[in-house]
Amino acid sequence: MKISYAGICGSDLHIYHGSHPFVKYPRVIGHEFAGVIEAVGDGVSASRIGQRVSVDPVVSCGHCYPCSIGRSNICHNLQVVGVHREGGFSEFCCVPDSLAYNVPDNINAPAAAMVEPFSIAANMLNRTGASARDVALVYGAGPIGLTVVQVLKGVYGVKKLIVADRLDSRLKGALENGADVVVNNSEKELASWLQEQGIAPTLVIDAACHPSIFAEATQIAAPAGRIGLMGFPAETSSVVQRFLNAKELTVYASRLNNKLFPTVIDWMASGKIQPHKLISHRFDFHDIKQALNLFETNPMACCKVLLQFDEE
Ligand SMILES: [Zn+2]
Ligand SMILES: [Zn+2]
Repeated sequence: MKISYAGICGSDLHIYHGSHPFVKYPRVIGHEFAGVIEAVGDGVSASRIGQRVSVDPVVSCGHCYPCSIGRSNICHNLQVVGVHREGGFSEFCCVPDSLAYNVPDNINAPAAAMVEPFSIAANMLNRTGASARDVALVYGAGPIGLTVVQVLKGVYGVKKLIVADRLDSRLKGALENGADVVVNNSEKELASWLQEQGIAPTLVIDAACHPSIFAEATQIAAPAGRIGLMGFPAETSSVVQRFLNAKELTVYASRLNNKLFPTVIDWMASGKIQPHKLISHRFDFHDIKQALNLFETNPMACCKVLLQFDEE
């Protein structure tokens, strides 16, 4: 495929700096991308040439235990495009036919590159479930947190949505993307603030991923609440089991996405989610160093930074 746009993600910075645990070099980075099919290999219908597609980066084996129970995103032999095989920060990329999902005309090229980041939110909320009865609390209003915010409001219509972050500029972004209430948890002690407000979240999503959050989430969650964990901190978290059992809390972990590209593409096509609200910058791909640097050093100014390879 000929790439049109690719998004920069936090994990790309780790690969760029050589601090990602799973990568072998050399590697073409990039797992959030979209473009147009330029040529096909043996066994793939030539009718696919010219189709506009977004690529699910999750490559699974199809025969291990997780694959056999429909959990292919945690396949034993998992390969992620842009991590274990060549990715989308390139003018051309070769991907498996089955992972190139057609994108309808009302989703433009930059939005098509946003399907993957939304698939992360889709998978998390598919794991926890969400409904109009939920009072949801999202930790972190960065790019991933904001995709969760948009899906919680636009798709699931949760009753009340609270977002906690340590940066006021990001909280402003949370309000613009559907949060009902925001709180700066570097200024206010979150547990007591929630108590003052009479808020007991039934669904807590950690998109900020500091190890202290998991422990706090078990304290503040309502009875029968669900907690969704998104990040990969390696530090120990001091969770008190009593909170889990006294309230019968359920904890869900989520990684990548489990075949949710068609779902996200439908949400986008029907206007339930707004990818353009999250795109803060676009760079010509020749300026990738500048783009990576901005994304890394100025989280106040950026949400999703896209590289542009080819204008459709
Ligand atoms: Zn990503
Ligand atoms: Zn497998």
